[in-house]
Amino acid sequence: MTRQPGNWLTALACATAMVAGAAAAQNVKVTSLGTHDGEFCAQDRALIFEDPNGTRILYDPGRSVMGGEDPRLGKIDIILVSHMHGDHAGNAHVAKLNDGECGNPPTPVKDTPNSNAVNIALARKAKMVTGGEMQAFFAAKLAANGGSAGDSILARFGGTRTVGGVKISTVNALHSNGLDPDYIGGDLAEAMKKAGFSGYVGEATGYVVRFTNGLVAYLSGDTGMVSEMETVVRNHYHANFSVMNIGDNFTTGPTEAAYVINDLVKPATVMASHANEAATQGGKVKAGTKTEAFMKASKVPVIVPLSGKAYELDGHGKCVAGC
Ligand SMILES: [Zn+2]
Repeated sequence: MTRQPGNWLTALACATAMVAGAAAAQNVKVTSLGTHDGEFCAQDRALIFEDPNGTRILYDPGRSVMGGEDPRLGKIDIILVSHMHGDHAGNAHVAKLNDGECGNPPTPVKDTPNSNAVNIALARKAKMVTGGEMQAFFAAKLAANGGSAGDSILARFGGTRTVGGVKISTVNALHSNGLDPDYIGGDLAEAMKKAGFSGYVGEATGYVVRFTNGLVAYLSGDTGMVSEMETVVRNHYHANFSVMNIGDNFTTGPTEAAYVINDLVKPATVMASHANEAATQGGKVKAGTKTEAFMKASKVPVIVPLSGKAYELDGHGKCVAGC
């Protein structure tokens, strides 16, 4: 009789250890698809997130992904586009990797009028999840090019779409989102260009992506500082990981980005993005860069996304491999 509680506790300990072992494999993998292998370069925005359930998400393909046939893509289930600017939706892209300088890679392959994002969605049969009128724009592009309008899914502010088991919500970004007339083409585009006028496709957005292992990722997109980073992203969604744009001039710079991370969102880990500089050489962060300034100012660990390297995040936002 006296052994029974002991046996039961031993069994419980074994079960707990097994659960812990299983949990260790339940990580989200994040990989940058940049212009130069092993570096963090000026045009790098594109990230692939892989949920433990196998769902793969491409965020802001921009100009560093070599269209739908880029061999680094693999299976893509979902494409997220924060806004329509050419370096995010992709108005052109690199012809090959490691071409030219990390700080200013050539992007000779034109992607207008479709966008790199649409061409990848068509080639990979991926769904596009965006906020506002971008959804209608992408639906029309997909339908006009042999795809399905229904693959462009709307996640307007406050709503959530679950795709492939992953919950996707949009949050506001303080930015602009004018559609370059080159995405429209024809006489209308010429008239718009002459008038200095861009198309309306709703507001720029950030994303909150809730993965099946508990990771809650805030993807800032291009944005200034907004109070919703605390009241919505932190207080409601409880983001425990953030991808933060640090490039300055067009979006938060290193100081502002560090304030967002340290005082508003307070994630466990942050990944730097959109630095608009050759941030690394030989995979090491260069002195005097915005990336270095951000790392010094951030109170939480900073991941520098070296292209092609996989970083693994657990359900608490902690980087547990590749860092
Ligand atoms: Zn922008």
